[in-house]
Amino acid sequence: MSFPKVFNELIKSLSCFPGVGRRSAERIAFYILKMKPEESNKLINNIEESRKYIKPCRMCNNFSTHELCSICSNPKREKDIVCIVEEPKDIVAVEKTSSYRGLYFVLLGSLSPLEGVNEEDLNLAKLINRLEKGEVKEVIIATDSDTDGELTAQFLIQELSKYKAKVYRIGMGVPLGTQIEYIDSATLSKAFLERREVE
Ligand SMILES: [Zn+2]
Repeated sequence: MSFPKVFNELIKSLSCFPGVGRRSAERIAFYILKMKPEESNKLINNIEESRKYIKPCRMCNNFSTHELCSICSNPKREKDIVCIVEEPKDIVAVEKTSSYRGLYFVLLGSLSPLEGVNEEDLNLAKLINRLEKGEVKEVIIATDSDTDGELTAQFLIQELSKYKAKVYRIGMGVPLGTQIEYIDSATLSKAFLERREVE
C-alpha cells in the first residue's frame, strides 16, 4: 500500500530529524494525524515561535530570545573565562555540573571532513574579537571526545595559541568517543576540575 503524496512528504520531513529513521518517522507521522487539532496547532505554533524568537546570542551563539543570552548578561559570571562547546545543548550539560562560572562560546558544529565541514566553516570571529581585545584570560575547550570533536580541539589549540589567553582542554574521565551532552554531571564536573593546559 502506498501513502498519499502529502503524507509521504510529512514522513520525509520527519526523517530529517537526528536519530529518526524511516520507521520512526512513519510512527510520528501517524501520531500527528491522530492528534487533536488543538494539540497539532500548538506544535505548529511552538515550532513557528521558536524559529521566530530564538536567535544566536550576539556574544556566544547560545540560543536566546534576547540580544545577549542569560549567561552572557549575568553579572555574576566570570567574564574572562570562556568555555568552547559544539552546540547550545552542551551548555545545558556543563551548567548542570554547577562547577563552572565562566562564559561560553558555541561553535554551532565541529570540524567534520566527512561531512564537508572545514576550518573556514567554524565561525570563530566573535571569539577571536574578544581574544584580541584581551578580554579573555582562560579558554577551556570542551568539544566532544569523538573523532570530529578531537580534530576540532586540535584546530582550536593551534588557532588560540596565537593569543595571550591560557588554553585548556577538559580533563580525563571523559570516555573516548563520547558526546558532552551524554556525560553524567559528576564525570563532567571532574573533567572541568582536571582540565589541563595545552601548549
Ligand atoms: Zn551568550
